[in-house]
Amino acid sequence: MPTGGKKNPVESFEHETVTVKSTISGRDWELPGMWNRMFEQRVIFDYDTAVMEKIVELEGGESLDWCYGCGKCIPVCPVDIVGEYGPRKVHRKVQTGVDLFNDPDLWLCTTCMNCLRVCPKEVDMIQIMPAVREVAVSEGNVPSELQDVFQNTFRYGNALGESPRKRHAWTKGAGVDVKVLPSDPSPVDVLFYVEDYWSYHPRGHDAAQACARIFAALGIDYGILGPEEKTLGDSQRLAGEKGLFEALMEDVVATLDKYEFKRIVTPDPHGFNALVKVYPTYGHEYEVLHYTQLLAPLVDKIEWKSEANYKVTFHDPCYLGRHNGEYDAPRTLLQAIPGVELVEMGRCRENGYCCGGGGGAMWLDSFTGNHTVERLSERRVKEAAEAGADVLAVCCPYEVSRFEDAAKSTGNETLLVKDIVELMDEAMGNGSQA
Ligand code: SF4
Ligand code: SF4
Repeated sequence: MPTGGKKNPVESFEHETVTVKSTISGRDWELPGMWNRMFEQRVIFDYDTAVMEKIVELEGGESLDWCYGCGKCIPVCPVDIVGEYGPRKVHRKVQTGVDLFNDPDLWLCTTCMNCLRVCPKEVDMIQIMPAVREVAVSEGNVPSELQDVFQNTFRYGNALGESPRKRHAWTKGAGVDVKVLPSDPSPVDVLFYVEDYWSYHPRGHDAAQACARIFAALGIDYGILGPEEKTLGDSQRLAGEKGLFEALMEDVVATLDKYEFKRIVTPDPHGFNALVKVYPTYGHEYEVLHYTQLLAPLVDKIEWKSEANYKVTFHDPCYLGRHNGEYDAPRTLLQAIPGVELVEMGRCRENGYCCGGGGGAMWLDSFTGNHTVERLSERRVKEAAEAGADVLAVCCPYEVSRFEDAAKSTGNETLLVKDIVELMDEAMGNGSQA
């Protein structure tokens, strides 16, 4: 070991030389020994290559073997920041024979896409992980908490295992009429696809009700599917349940076919991603907007009645930002709210940190907690607090409850977590009607 702060000097040594005969001129060439290796077959490593071969044969798994170990992915991987993980590390483990199909690493990736953003070789964990997970799911190697979600989704059409009849119970507390298409199937401009967490989670209800009041104030002609809505299932797909996703899609498309609408609007970036990127690959094309994209162009029409005097920082959802390139619509809305001072966290926009809920990780908190030193959501609320924010603003239904829990567990109880529509609703003077 070096002592006294000095490195041991490198010992120089002479390479052996080798003489090769040119096949063109017939002359002899002397080459240093370091080049000899180019002319002989060598054993490169002594590991079992079967797992790597099995992965690269999967549709979507090919790119794992393209990694050349540059390491660019590691500092941007949100899981590595709270653990020991990242594409290069996964590649290296598989290269040395680790069976990813049966390894906890398989379930840690949130498919946030930050590695793909920087990878020079386009090693695509958004394809690799679902492909490997699909095999693991078919072999029954699934963390139990995720298996429960798959079963709930299969049985009830939502991840929370709630009754389809309660899908639109939230509308009762909105204080405005919400058209439920199965009861009133007349044509609408917007089919509002509420998705699971705004439909069933109590904090999701707050946002859904605020959104309904904003839609009413702006005169938006819309309807919801109510008891006929089923989750679009994008996170289940990324967690390896492609079959379940496809079965859901068949039901969703059949339901959508029953109604007349011009465009679909959803608050859920995961559902948005499915409709924009995955449904068209099966031949189902719709005009689709995230709710921030619907509202941002209408912001000048809003009558503000009071100020929302907060220092607000915004968390870019991975599936709205990096996956689908929308960074501005949420900020347009926040900056239009009187009283809001928008401050950015160090990691934002393209390099936004993941909340820890993507790719099925929403339902793997206990599992992930056993393999990381801190939850990703905890890390993120600390960043929001460090930015000096009073409010961490979100626009993904997964995030309010994740970040509220994290604010409590990290001692940042004074940090409020609010959906953008809740802040807008407050400044529009609507308030909760529940
Ligand atoms: S950035 Fe890409 S090529 Fe570089 S180590 Fe990561 S996965 Fe491998
Ligand atoms: S997609 Fe995100 S979580 Fe998964 S390996 Fe890449 S950076 Fe890490």
